[in-house]
Amino acid sequence: MKLSREVIATEDKRKLQDISGEEVLSCYQCGKCSAGCAMTEAMDLLPHQVIRLLQLGQVEEALHSRTIWVCASCLACSARCPRGMNLPNVMESLRAQVLRPGDRSLNPADIPYELLEIIPEQALVAAFRKYT
Ligand code: SF4
Ligand code: SF4
Repeated sequence: MKLSREVIATEDKRKLQDISGEEVLSCYQCGKCSAGCAMTEAMDLLPHQVIRLLQLGQVEEALHSRTIWVCASCLACSARCPRGMNLPNVMESLRAQVLRPGDRSLNPADIPYELLEIIPEQALVAAFRKYT
């Protein structure tokens, strides 16, 4: 497949960047993150390779990587990154997409009024955190 701006700018990639708050194209693949990661022996893709997949719009492949579950969110990589990339945020966003697939958003207007009167406020807040 010929690479182009359209090919790499997938909807999945936009969603991932929205959730993580990270711009994956800012990574220039120096590999410092992977060099400093203590978990690479258990990973199938090195951290900078996960970022490379995302840069190319291949989010699905990153979602199937063991690396995203092995990452210990220790922040060693982001401390070394010359571009200030927060890799643990990216890994967490990928895990969230695996665990929360599809559109399960909660529309407040869909909650029956009778339920609103009896549901504990804490339960509502928790539901909105989870589904919005
Ligand atoms: S250290 Fe930062 S810039 Fe270098 S490869 Fe890793 S994420 Fe990319
Ligand atoms: S946060 Fe994850 S990817 Fe980064 S160094 Fe730690 S284990 Fe490796």
